[in-house]
This record gives sequence, structure tokens and C-alpha cells, in this order.
Amino acid sequence: DGPSAPGLPASAPAAGAVEAIEDSLRSPRRWQPKQVLVTASAADTPHGRAIVARCEAAGIDRIELLRADRLPPLRGGDERATYALAKATLAVVTSAPSARRLAPIPPSADWRLDLAVGCPAHCQYCYLAGSLAGPPVTRVFADLPDVLSAMDTHVGRGGVTSTSRHRAGEGTTFEVSCYTDPLGIEHLTGSLAATIAHVGTRDWPSPVGLRFTTKFDDVAPLLDLPHAGRTRVRFSVNSAGPAGAERFEGGTARVRERLGALRRLALAGYPVGLTIAPVIPGPGWQDAYGALLDDVASALRDVPDPDLTAEVITHRFTPKSREVLLGWYPRTQLEMDPAQRATKRGKYASIKHVYTPPVMAEVRAWFERELERRLPTARLLYFT
Ligand code: SF4
Repeated sequence: DGPSAPGLPASAPAAGAVEAIEDSLRSPRRWQPKQVLVTASAADTPHGRAIVARCEAAGIDRIELLRADRLPPLRGGDERATYALAKATLAVVTSAPSARRLAPIPPSADWRLDLAVGCPAHCQYCYLAGSLAGPPVTRVFADLPDVLSAMDTHVGRGGVTSTSRHRAGEGTTFEVSCYTDPLGIEHLTGSLAATIAHVGTRDWPSPVGLRFTTKFDDVAPLLDLPHAGRTRVRFSVNSAGPAGAERFEGGTARVRERLGALRRLALAGYPVGLTIAPVIPGPGWQDAYGALLDDVASALRDVPDPDLTAEVITHRFTPKSREVLLGWYPRTQLEMDPAQRATKRGKYASIKHVYTPPVMAEVRAWFERELERRLPTARLLYFT
């Protein structure tokens, strides 16, 4: 594969975009777990066995077939070691019935659909911290047909998001990246490609939209799928470089590599999007995010009529996520000071620390204006 790969136009895009494409073609970011644990029920399923075969082909030596369905406790010598061990572990399990009872997930989608739970990357602001109990093991569901059946029964229900003026026609939407980065583990699971093809090839009684967001770039397995334009792939992006918010992201593809992947998917006819998150308005933030929007425009410059959306999410944390993240990343430079934030109260007395109203208003106005100016094809779905 190379810059002349099928689907790439002959006319040259901007220099930064070419670099990104070459990088993403050469060395997509692939997670290599140190161990894979497979529960007995998972090993009994065709998809579970296919995942084991993929792990063997990837050269993972330590694949343990468990006798039962309980995962052994993962403990290192201290909290750091436990974290490192969990992040280096892929567990192949069957889903709990609760995972197949889909929950509404506004504003992103009508329903949350979990193909896996947990993520191997190391983002210092990870929104999963504090949401998932126990050490951060990545668990993939081997009973994929059951998960997809649960999805099928929800088609035609919900539809709240499609009433948004920018989302007419999407139908019932399913978000598969609430609790994982599905592309980051796809080379070992194949679950995402199977789901995209499932949604793309069935004769649905009403429109259906699949969505996920990712910080990875290994999109080659997705390019030729029969997606039928029903899957929107959003890339989670942030201001790049050593001073940008990207420095808080470990184990992910770099932002410019993600933009190369965005371009390839747009050329393959996928609806695409940006999840600009978490926006951190530190010193010089306007220049940094302006450069990001310009890089996106360069990457898509010669893509004919891209179907592009944007979701803008400012940085926030909860007391629980702060505690977990400071345990995982004790030397982080990320500002998580409740005294500098406003408090937002949600359901069940939950608390979120967000930027103060004047900061939110300034950031919102800037993104609304600059998206319009620098990326006029992008439809802003929401700012939060
Ligand atoms: Fe968390 Fe997403 Fe980073 Fe994974 S890629 S660690 S899910 S923020």
C-alpha cells in the first residue's frame, strides 16, 4: 500500500494531509495486549473462536482459556502495576443481559450498543475513568449475534436524534463507542466490521444509523465494507503538538494520523465527523484549535462533497473520575481543580465540574464562528 492506494485522488492535497495519509498507511496504531483471557462461554462461540484466531495470528503468546466464566482477579503489586496489567489485558467474554438492554444516550444517539467495554489507550482525561468498576481491562463480547439481535429489536424505536435539523434521515441511531474505542481493538476482534456490514446490508423497515468515535487510525479493514452510508465514523481530535491537549493522550494514533484516516473513509463514501474533545481552553487555545480546523479542511480539501459533522465537548470531570485519574496519572499536568470550575448537577445528585458560564459562552461562540468560517461543510450537531 502507498500514497497511490485505490481511492486516493491524483490531485495533490495539502502537504500536511499527504504526510498524514502516508503515515496512516505505513504504520497504523495497533494495540498488542500482553495477555488474552477467554471465558469458557466465550470460547464456545464462533465469534469468540475467531477472536482467539486473530490474537494468535497477531503473535500474542499468552492466550488463556479459562474453565469458567469468571475472570481471575487482576492485581499488580500496587495501583500502578494493577493499572498497567489491566490495560495490557484483553478479556473475551459473553455479554451480561444488562449489556443487551440498550440505554438511550443523548445527544449522541438514540441507543448505546456495546460491542466491548474498556479501552487500551491511556488518555489522562479518559471519560471511562469513574464510569467502569474495577481495573481497566478491555472486555470484548464474543456473543456478537446476540448483541446485534438486541440492536435489531430497537430499530424504529427512539428516533429522537433524527428530529435534529442536521440529522434527518439517520433514523434510529446506535452509538458503539460509549464504553470503548471500537477501532482500537478491531484488528483483534472484527466486531466493528461485522456490525457495519450487518447495518449496511439488511433490509430495514426504517432507517438505521450506526456511529462510533475513535482516536485510532487503522481503517483499512473498513474501507471496502458494504456500509451503505449508514455508519458515521467520527474522529476524536484535539489541538495537536507538544503544547496541545493531544499530549494527554497515550497509546492512540496521533491527531494527524487520525485525519489521514478520516480522509480515507470519506473517500470510501462513509459519512464522517469530528468529535472535538475534550476542548481545553488553555493559553493560545484559539490558535491551536484554529490550526486543527485548518488541518481538517486540508485533509478533506479534494474529497468531493464530504458528509461531515462536528460535535464539540468541553473538558469536564466528576469527583469520582478525578480521583481515579489522579490515581492512574499522579503526575498529570491536566487541570482538574474544582475551584476553577462551575458545578453542574445531574440525575441522582451526580456532580460534574465544567468550565464557568463565561468561559463556556466564549468557547461556544468561537467554535460556532470558526467552524462556519474554516469548515463550512461541517454541520455542528451539539456543543456541550
Ligand atoms: Fe478513554 Fe477514548 Fe482515550 Fe480510550 S481513546 S483511553 S476511551 S479517552
